[in-house]
Amino acid sequence: MTAKIINGQEIAAEIQAEVQEAVEAMQAKYGYVPGLATVLVGEDPASSTYVRMKQKRCAEVGIRSIGHSLPADITQGDLEKVVADLNADPEVNGILVQLPLPSHLDEEAVLNSIDLGKDVDGFHPVNIGRLAMKGRDPLFIPCTPYGVMVLLEKSGTQISGAEAVVLGRSNIVGLPVAMLLQKANATVTICHSRTKDLAAHTRNADIVVAAIGRREMVTGDMLKPGSTVIDVGINQKEDPTKKRGYRLVGDVDFDSAKEVAGAITPVPRGVGPMTIAMLLKNTLHAADLALANN
Ligand code: NDP
Repeated sequence: MTAKIINGQEIAAEIQAEVQEAVEAMQAKYGYVPGLATVLVGEDPASSTYVRMKQKRCAEVGIRSIGHSLPADITQGDLEKVVADLNADPEVNGILVQLPLPSHLDEEAVLNSIDLGKDVDGFHPVNIGRLAMKGRDPLFIPCTPYGVMVLLEKSGTQISGAEAVVLGRSNIVGLPVAMLLQKANATVTICHSRTKDLAAHTRNADIVVAAIGRREMVTGDMLKPGSTVIDVGINQKEDPTKKRGYRLVGDVDFDSAKEVAGAITPVPRGVGPMTIAMLLKNTLHAADLALANN
């Protein structure tokens, strides 16, 4: 059996087109344009690239982006003052502080200082708390986990009642994915670096979400036939045929996994494009909330 390939690039483009349409409608009806502030501290090349990509995609859908590039040696107080000013600015609907921050800064305190109604990354502890609680919903769902859930839904995967195994328990991917899956009525197992026998869990899973950052660790023989596999991992693999000397691969060994799974995301063009698409959707949602409160 060869798995259906879940095309994240196509699904992300659909979401982006929906956001663009809604932004145009908002502008026509209320004369209001959503705004996303990006806060970049220092000049880390990967972080700078991510911020540029986010700004470019904002421009494509008509969301205004307000970029703040701050020196790497900024003090905690000065950074929190920037966030406070953005909190108070009515033209800013979403605030995205690009992580990781330089080590002298208290990341948790910075995330705590973001206005809950502008927390489009969904990392505010209150948002995460609401995600964890029965009968509560967060104002914003963290972008990559949100993208994972959309890919599962669009691939037609039955989530309610399914056995789901999440590999990884980070605050930004594994843990929120697990909480979203249990909210959607899956039976969820979370595996991590101390899990004794990963394969024993994945072999029973109808859904596997891999977010461990270990290249091609999940192989076809670890999967249940017909399962849905969402590969969040982004890892470099040496490839002398490429100009840069490597290519990107996931946490799942795609070639062996696709022979066993029922549906699978590739890397690249799987989860990756979904993260920014969901950020755009969250920013639109923040603008909707701001309009509703005025
Ligand atoms: P972290 O390093 O924060 O977390 C990795 C998790 O995997 C930890 O919970 C760790 O366990 C677990 N783990 C590590 N090694 C193993 C192992 N051998 N067996 C089982 N579990 C293991 O990573 P992130 O969550 O930030 O990212 C995970 C991957 O997803 C990375 O490849 C990252 O690049 C990618 N990513 C992709 C995004 C996208 O947009 N597509 C967005 C964000 C991340 P423990 O808790 O015990 O240490």
